[in-house]
Amino acid sequence: MSPDDYDRLYAESHDRPAFSNGDEGYGWMAANCDRCIHDKPARQGNDAQGCPLVLLTLMGRTPAQFVDGPRDENGLYGIADQYVCTEFRGEDDPDPEPRPLPTPPGQGELLPREPFEGHRMLTPLTPADHATAAPGGEAL
Ligand code: SF4
Repeated sequence: MSPDDYDRLYAESHDRPAFSNGDEGYGWMAANCDRCIHDKPARQGNDAQGCPLVLLTLMGRTPAQFVDGPRDENGLYGIADQYVCTEFRGEDDPDPEPRPLPTPPGQGELLPREPFEGHRMLTPLTPADHATAAPGGEAL
């Protein structure tokens, strides 16, 4: 991932803000982006080479790479782990490029993996999606 990927990342992002307010956004970034290799250029004063996902959040979008972090029984979350960013790489990681897990030895592959690798986002279902006819004909 690089800043040149911005258009592709924008196209696959959600059209909704990632954070409710600035405290949430800057709190999450302080806990994650401030130690991630992708935003290291911005920390060194080169904003143009900073993380394109950060730019997306500043544009009011939610990147597809943001996966919800843990929630308690009431749906509450901590600011630092509201999301887990699947592109996060520690800035001291000696090999920051993500590598797909290799196919285990001896396991056959029915289909090539490449077209199915990448980020996927679940979309919320509407109640109509779950409407099931009861035996009497009424929707459940
Ligand atoms: S890849 Fe994720 S964690 Fe890293 S700087 Fe970008 S948004 Fe932050």
